[in-house]
Amino acid sequence: MILPKNAPVLVVGAGIMGAGIAQVAAQAGHSVYLFDMREGAAAQAKLKLTATLESLVAKGKISADVAQATLACIEPVESLNAAADAMLVIEAIVENLDAKRSLFRQLESVVGDNAILASNTSSISVTAIANGLQRPGRFVGMHFFNPVPQMKLVEVVSGLQTDAAVAQAIDVLSVAWGKVPVHARSTPGFIVNRIARPYYAETLALLQEQAATPQALDACLKTAGFRMGPCELMDLIGHDTNFAVTNSVFEANFGDKRFVPSLVQRELVDGGLLGRKSGRGFYTYPEGASAQPSTTHEAPIAVGLITVHGVGEIADQLEQFVSQGQLCGDDAPARRRQSAWVGLEIGSARLVLTDGRTASDIAKQEGLSDVVVFDRPTLWPASRDGALAYAVAPQVSGAWRQQAPAWLAALGFVPIPLADAPGLVVTRTIAMLINEAADAVLQGVCTTDGADAAMKLGVNYPAGPFEWLSRWSVAGVIHVLESLDEHYRGERYRVSPWLRRYSA
Ligand code: NAD
Repeated sequence: MILPKNAPVLVVGAGIMGAGIAQVAAQAGHSVYLFDMREGAAAQAKLKLTATLESLVAKGKISADVAQATLACIEPVESLNAAADAMLVIEAIVENLDAKRSLFRQLESVVGDNAILASNTSSISVTAIANGLQRPGRFVGMHFFNPVPQMKLVEVVSGLQTDAAVAQAIDVLSVAWGKVPVHARSTPGFIVNRIARPYYAETLALLQEQAATPQALDACLKTAGFRMGPCELMDLIGHDTNFAVTNSVFEANFGDKRFVPSLVQRELVDGGLLGRKSGRGFYTYPEGASAQPSTTHEAPIAVGLITVHGVGEIADQLEQFVSQGQLCGDDAPARRRQSAWVGLEIGSARLVLTDGRTASDIAKQEGLSDVVVFDRPTLWPASRDGALAYAVAPQVSGAWRQQAPAWLAALGFVPIPLADAPGLVVTRTIAMLINEAADAVLQGVCTTDGADAAMKLGVNYPAGPFEWLSRWSVAGVIHVLESLDEHYRGERYRVSPWLRRYSA
């Protein structure tokens, strides 16, 4: 089943998403009917699109011919019956199950038997919308991302009754429209809205225990390659919307503690501090996030022998930077590859790459006092000069409390002090993103490649969860999750069986 290049398309709902979908379909050469239940809304949307395309022409981004041809393809209609010859319907109306169900039942008697019916729903079960349709096999999710003309990802969502040929037809069509389709099984949050939950949740959990400020957390995650820190991003999305998505994934999973919403965010919502749109969220607008203040550090003093411990990319880079920066005079640092930990030992003090345990636990377990842990510099060396979190064990000496951040600064980072929380910021966030993606794959929601593509194209992540995993180690991720689980107790940090199977 392949939709012809000139198949007429009906877009229902002329809001933000419907207008964008109509534009993309028209640019691909389809004749597009645009319908909205609000009288005049479809014509209004076309007028707005005309202005947008004219400004793109003025900026030289598209030619006047393309703009004209696109607009000529879009016909606002005031009744669904005017679009009876549509071969594909894409619904982008209000996010409400009853409204969507009744629209599709009505559409079945308007369009031909072979027309494909698609919904742009971002959270409602595709299986549930199809319930009651005469031909549920032709119903599929076609989930675009906002803004539709710019975002490449389309999640092609199959419910229990969706025909494979229908999902495949939407796949082929998405490619023809310049998009990247990724297949998903209809489960709460599909791919992106599910796997992305920990990006917000870990930061909200750290804020709740007052481990750091929003500025500090944003700075650390931006150093790891994310375009926006979670606090800035939640402010942009709107706390009401972000909280509603978290709640819907939580409830749809029967209250699974893994997805439990945050009191910190609920307070912002209750107080009307919704982010940019209300002038205040974590930050105040129009100023937004202020730069993270950086402190200057004196050059560290090498007292005694410097040893680089452990194996792997980060240990190798530590060795290289310590040598290059001549941080141990003319001597090369010693290297102990057989150590179970990664980091630097200077005299009897340790600067340890977090493995999920707190600095305090490491100090207790190893019988040491001078222990400082630092976060995983994910894109090191590209991200040097950026913020890197560290935490000190409570029993640390005054000298090492000062020297440890000086060493991080000498290695090229901006050291950010954090309370002694397990897995610090980047490490626990990425471990949880990997864990959620692993569970999605375990449950057949998507493939590993699908998860990677969806997170990079749907929310601009610097890498996909399985790409991070390939640069880290399954055992390392499991160790971080188990440490978090031991520290907090509860369901949130349970390790995905997929990771355990993969490690075996
Ligand atoms: P919107 O409020 O901007 O637009 C919805 C439009 O649908 C309105 O113009 C409304 O008049 C119309 N409408 C409502 N009920 C209707 C009906 N029964 N028949 C015809 N028209 C009807 O909403 P939006 O942001 O464009 O979202 C639309 C859909 O896309 C929702 O399902 C939403 O979850 C999904 N979605 C939104 C985003 C986003 O970022 N906004 C991203 C992906 C998916």
